[in-house]
Amino acid sequence: MKKNDRLLGMDRDITRRDFIHDLSLASLGLALPAGTAAHAADSGSGPSAAGYPPVRTGMRGSHPGAFEVAHALAREGKAFPAPTDLDESYDLVVVGGGISGLAAAYYYRRRFGPDSRILILENHDDFGGHAKRNEFHQGGRMRLSWGGTMNLEYPYFSEEVNELMAELGVNIDTLLEGYHFRYGSGPKGEHAMFFDAETFGRDVLVQDFSFRAGRETDLDHAIDRFPISEASRESLKAFYARRDNVFAGKSESEVKALLKRISYTDFLKQYGGLTDEAANLFIRVTHGYAGVGADSLSAAECIGASVPIMHLFGSPNLSGSGATDAGGDVAMFPDGNASIARLLVRALIPAVAPGADASNLALAQFDYSKLDEPDSPVRLRLESTVINVTDGQAGTSVTYVNDGRVLRVNAKHTILACYHVIIPHLCPDLPEEQKAAQKYQVKRPLLVTNVLLRDSKAIDKLELSGAYCPGRLHGAVWVVKGVDTMGYRHDWDDAGTVPVMFWGSVTPPDSSVPVKEQHRASRAALLAMTFEDFEREVRTVLDGMLGPAGFDVREDILAITVNRWSHGYAYGYLDLWDPEWPKGEAPHEIAKKPFGNITIANSDAGAEAYTHVAIDEARRAVGELD
Ligand SMILES: Cc1cc2nc3c(=O)[nH]c(=O)nc-3n(C[C@H](O)[C@H](O)[C@H](O)COP(=O)(O)OP(=O)(O)OC[C@H]3O[C@@H](n4cnc5c(N)ncnc54)[C@H](O)[C@@H]3O)c2cc1C
Repeated sequence: MKKNDRLLGMDRDITRRDFIHDLSLASLGLALPAGTAAHAADSGSGPSAAGYPPVRTGMRGSHPGAFEVAHALAREGKAFPAPTDLDESYDLVVVGGGISGLAAAYYYRRRFGPDSRILILENHDDFGGHAKRNEFHQGGRMRLSWGGTMNLEYPYFSEEVNELMAELGVNIDTLLEGYHFRYGSGPKGEHAMFFDAETFGRDVLVQDFSFRAGRETDLDHAIDRFPISEASRESLKAFYARRDNVFAGKSESEVKALLKRISYTDFLKQYGGLTDEAANLFIRVTHGYAGVGADSLSAAECIGASVPIMHLFGSPNLSGSGATDAGGDVAMFPDGNASIARLLVRALIPAVAPGADASNLALAQFDYSKLDEPDSPVRLRLESTVINVTDGQAGTSVTYVNDGRVLRVNAKHTILACYHVIIPHLCPDLPEEQKAAQKYQVKRPLLVTNVLLRDSKAIDKLELSGAYCPGRLHGAVWVVKGVDTMGYRHDWDDAGTVPVMFWGSVTPPDSSVPVKEQHRASRAALLAMTFEDFEREVRTVLDGMLGPAGFDVREDILAITVNRWSHGYAYGYLDLWDPEWPKGEAPHEIAKKPFGNITIANSDAGAEAYTHVAIDEARRAVGELD
């Protein structure tokens, strides 16, 4: 039976829920949308949320107050009052304080000298872009999790990214020594499937089974427990047991062409013999990997996504990478790539964390009051949304909104390290073809919700380290333990407070429409959701999954941080939705062309949602400046 809000503990005081009455936005006629109260809560015994954003809980990521100015400009064409000229001029202004913007500032100093005066403008109340640290102190000991980007995909690093990592003191071997987190296949338990009552009629937790890896033994017995029709269960059993080549007799090129034309879920039905119901269970499995459902990815793209497919070509393994939940060759900091952002900020503005280096970074608290000091050659200004950038004989001028004021600064150069879709609104003078290319790059919405649990007793009892949830908003959930490095420890044996990370992307209402329309519809749905919607969602899942093992949903949740990424992954081209562009004519190649003293970075410029791509594009953008 569906629990009401009281039984779910919605009335429990997990956070001190402050509504931020943003008077400055109101003064511009930009009220916060109804129902999107900002939950900037204090974190209990730890540092104060007022001066230290990483401990803020509630609605984070694209938090209220961060996006209203940009939306008013881009969606409503709002005209802002004439700017006030500040008596500040710089060598470089960077728009966007994500990894790409921070790396651009770093490379600029390297190219033009350490005395270069640089201003980084960022619309959020914290730096890092998608690289955000979620820091919890509610249970006493500090616990860390990732607000967004976490994997360092080191095998794909360019020489220059490796060089930057070395300069920042990042050693992949050291990170790997302390890396015992494995996306749901940790030492304390394997991946599971959670079928929820609202979608499937009853709550069922099937341990030691995942869509990716299936199960080594007793597979049929595990699938027999799935609360779906018998026909669908039988189709799944037959699917996982198969090892024949469904394409026997076809040439390699025929098979390749076919795999690029068919969606993964259609492939599962047509060649894997799954029923519609069984195939649909796989849709959310690729959300975290690609930001889109498996029904919008080609079967060829899914070969790289560690989902079961290779066994239908006669391979002994289910997937190209051996069908695991482990997530490939990656290294990780305890707060994910927020550490890279913090190392860059520390290198640019040493006063923020004088004693910190890579070896103790996870425990270091940054002094945010030092980010924007007049005497510092590099300044990082938060809560500042850029609304206009123009280029002229004397250099560039940059207008932004901060705390309700419309302000302008001048700079010799400007690097746009922000999302490409906003650039046509910031620089209306760009060539039409370039603006159209930028608008093509619609980012994929994503969602990372961290929930701090009082202890991990129920999780340990069930021997869980993660679960797929085919019927829920977040398609996967992982126990966050075992990234023991850079001064931080959270052993798998520690039964104390534990973050669990819910990972997902809003399933679009209609996945037959073009993929960018799907993203826009998902984004609208994501932005319309309130904190209470997310809270109810994670409480429902935790109660159904862990309740039978003694988890008390009213008592055992200490904090919730929703990292809502309305503009998440950079748009990468997809087999089913994009043409094959001739070299030099792909939208991202046109979008990033320099324009006088303005150059363009961000992972969008590489059309790949990776931290190393964001860095490579920053280096290129600095190199293009005269
Ligand atoms: C949930 C999630 C998980 C991810 N996981 C991984 C991973 O594990 N590994 C990996 O390599 N990559 C991952 N990524 C991809 C990630 O996008 C990149 O790794 C990288 O962080 C992108 O950096 P960026 O600087 O290009 O963009 P962003 O991080 O988006 O930074 C751009 C910044 O510009 C700001 N901005 C935009 N417009 C304006 C304006 N008008 N004025 C001022 N500021 C503005 C934005 O708010 C933002 O802070 C993940 C992304 C998401 C969303």
